Amino acid sequence: MKRRNPWLAIYERLLARYGPQHWWPGETPFEVMVGAVLTQNTAWGNVEKAIANLKQAGALDCRAILERSDADLAELIRPAGYFNVKTRRLKALCGFLAARGVAEAPEALAGQGNLGQLRTALLAVHGIGEETADSILLYALGRPSFVVDAYTRRAYTRLGLLEGGEPYAEIKRRFEAGLARDVALYNEYHALIVRLGKEHCRPRPRCADCPLLALCPNAS
Ligand code: SF4
Repeated sequence: MKRRNPWLAIYERLLARYGPQHWWPGETPFEVMVGAVLTQNTAWGNVEKAIANLKQAGALDCRAILERSDADLAELIRPAGYFNVKTRRLKALCGFLAARGVAEAPEALAGQGNLGQLRTALLAVHGIGEETADSILLYALGRPSFVVDAYTRRAYTRLGLLEGGEPYAEIKRRFEAGLARDVALYNEYHALIVRLGKEHCRPRPRCADCPLLALCPNAS
């Protein structure tokens, strides 16, 4: 009998237990891009406070961010932590969008190249690493680029599908090789892995109630 695709089998179990996660929690593609930068090394709740500050100040806009002084912008995004670093990163992202002529409609970036070209361009922006680039591609631009994070690495190592030390690109490659190239699937799957990592496959795993218990060789 043909062995079931483990990547899909895990997805189906996660979806059956947790249901749709309705990601990304942002109202516009630009808000998703900003959130992808602000969420680096911090919890999402802190990002929400920073985004609320930006909205209240009328600064959740590419041009507005570029026109703000660094000190003003840093103060607005303070709740997200590393606010001086993230100020530079946000300005770099907005400078990139402006240089591409899409400051007024950042989602139009999606029409400026194929997936590989857009990914390369994003990775060349100061402060945008692979996870941030893929989050922007998938959740802001609707391109099929699987997002990998620390939750993914931890859970899939325990699940026996990773050894644990693979570089980001190799983990991404394995997911994409195991799944249909589908934006909605990639969107939901990453969100479900985050839910798994927060709720069950935590640093101290809660295996007894985990939806993947029957599939996991390292369940305790
Ligand atoms: S059974 Fe335990 S180790 Fe395996 S994925 Fe679930 S929580 Fe993680």
